[in-house]
Amino acid sequence: MPEKTPDGDEKNTDQNPGAQPTSGATSRALVISAHAADFVWRAGGAIALHQSRGTKVTVVCLSYGERGESARLWKQGGMTLAAVKAARRIEAENAAAALGVKDIRFLDLGDYPLDLGPSARERLVDIIREVQPKWMMSHSMWDPYNTDHMNTTRFVLECRMIAQAWGHKPGERVLGAPQLYLFEPHQSEQMGWKPDVFLDITPVWKEKRAAIECMQGQQHLWDFYTNVAENRANHFRRNSGGQAGGRAAKYAEGFQSMFPRTVDAL
Ligand SMILES: [Zn+2]
Repeated sequence: MPEKTPDGDEKNTDQNPGAQPTSGATSRALVISAHAADFVWRAGGAIALHQSRGTKVTVVCLSYGERGESARLWKQGGMTLAAVKAARRIEAENAAAALGVKDIRFLDLGDYPLDLGPSARERLVDIIREVQPKWMMSHSMWDPYNTDHMNTTRFVLECRMIAQAWGHKPGERVLGAPQLYLFEPHQSEQMGWKPDVFLDITPVWKEKRAAIECMQGQQHLWDFYTNVAENRANHFRRNSGGQAGGRAAKYAEGFQSMFPRTVDAL
């Protein structure tokens, strides 16, 4: 499959999440979250770090997680679907703002299950082409506890493929070959998720924790994801310097790359 833009160059092949943006056009990234809160726990550090370095990160929430991930609100009684959606939207907007994100979009596709039909596909393909991300991020490929998550990743791959097709809406700029990073799921080992990238998010930990604390409905996860970040920092140190200890990192996030990296030297 040709992986070039209509200009014939290869603008979107930078697959290093820690890379500084190059000069010229603003570099952009796209994070696709099945439910309103998912991007916060799993990729909040990567989002804040890149925003702070000049990459414009667009966050797409396919749903608000209104039915399946809003138990605390439903337990209050007297709730309606509309009220739960509104509450989750405000939380997600606040969390995005804490991470420095100015572009968060809600597709409102319903949850448990998501409706990922042709109309949703069209909308996400349009967004991918508009954003032209240097890298993309979504869920693990497998999640038997939450099929919305794994269906999202399959859907994202499908939309990425369509966005690359020269015959889809000819004349539009086609997508290059952005890496798709799979962010860390809950119960990582059960999801067949194996990280191959660790990103030091220590400089933006304060922002990630602030975003986490916007999730009032899921307080039981606040410390859990702080522990995850500390443990991944241990892996960052171990892998950056051998047994004697590598580069210091207090908080990190792990990602699994979907595609190989292309390099000129090892
Ligand atoms: Zn979710």
